[in-house]
Amino acid sequence: MKVKKQLLTLKAYVPGKSSEEVRKEYGLEKIVKLASNENPYGSSPTVLEAISTAIPSFAIYPDGAAVELRETVARYVGVNEDQLLFSSGLDELIQIISRAILSPETNAIMAEETFSQYKHHAVIENAEIREVPLKDGTHDLDGMASKIDGNTRVIWICNPNNPTGTYVGKKDLEQFLSRVPSHVLVVLDEAYYEYAIADDYPQTIELLKQYENLLVLRTFSKAFGLAAFRIGYGIGSSAFIKQLEIARLPFNTSVLAQTAAIAALQDLEFVSHSVKKNREEIKKFYDFFDQHQITFYPSQTNFIYINIPGKSSEEVFQHLLERGFIVRAFPKGVRITVGREQENKELLEQIEKMILVKQ
Ligand SMILES: *Cc1c(COP(=O)(O)O)cnc(C)c1O
Repeated sequence: MKVKKQLLTLKAYVPGKSSEEVRKEYGLEKIVKLASNENPYGSSPTVLEAISTAIPSFAIYPDGAAVELRETVARYVGVNEDQLLFSSGLDELIQIISRAILSPETNAIMAEETFSQYKHHAVIENAEIREVPLKDGTHDLDGMASKIDGNTRVIWICNPNNPTGTYVGKKDLEQFLSRVPSHVLVVLDEAYYEYAIADDYPQTIELLKQYENLLVLRTFSKAFGLAAFRIGYGIGSSAFIKQLEIARLPFNTSVLAQTAAIAALQDLEFVSHSVKKNREEIKKFYDFFDQHQITFYPSQTNFIYINIPGKSSEEVFQHLLERGFIVRAFPKGVRITVGREQENKELLEQIEKMILVKQ
């Protein structure tokens, strides 16, 4: 069998170790998973109630047009229903976008340290990839703009950025958008939108009227705590959404995912509570890291990206793993999801011990 040759340069996604695997491997009792930026407070009780009472007929396909969810989200976001495209998580939407717009003679621009799937799908479509290193941990918009040419189809901006937690502010973004030619799609991946609290974090829905080439991505996986259901959406101009819909599978979101998302939107209190707790806890991380000369980027998300002087990210990862904390190591830093109060306290104790031992 022969696959496309560019697939041979890639690896299938390797999920972090499961809690069960780590428990067995190191003979631990308790495992705390802080590796995937899931909501540590779970999800709203309205979701459990909705899916346990609305048991669908298993033999019937889901609503491919997601009519009820579409109405609910359109109202929630404040856009028209035909400006929305639903997907099995943003992972699928990134694939749909790439499939619809990229081909060998085109190029895609993205940051060098950002969400991995933009590059992954650009490689599969055999498009040219133009990566621009982060500047002070955040997107270098000038650098990205300078890479645009007649073959550029898309610029990916992860805002706030995963894995650094940094963000592009309103003024910089608007200036950038005014420079991007209208044939280039600008995708703003706002997976952590609900967590962003900075005054100048851009409210991009307002910009959609002005920029037809803008597409905003949001998901139910993070602050809403519904990662298991796989549901996210894109918001853009109705004309572009209509074209993207052609590349979407007919029944890509399940009955339960649609039901769960609708129920989650009935309890925004749960989200604001999660965001508030997240800010309280992240402040403790900041204080601890400052005290111990650990460098980090201030975060607009529910994770924090750190560097411990004199230690590789692999060392930090391994030290924490053996003590029951699963985090995520990147070449230049370690990304830690902000957990619950007690979990964070225990994690910081382990980091403190690690630093003290070798001094
Ligand atoms: C988690 C994440 C996604 C994927 O989210 P799903 O909706 O669960 O597929 C996309 N982009 C970023 C930046 C993320 O962190």
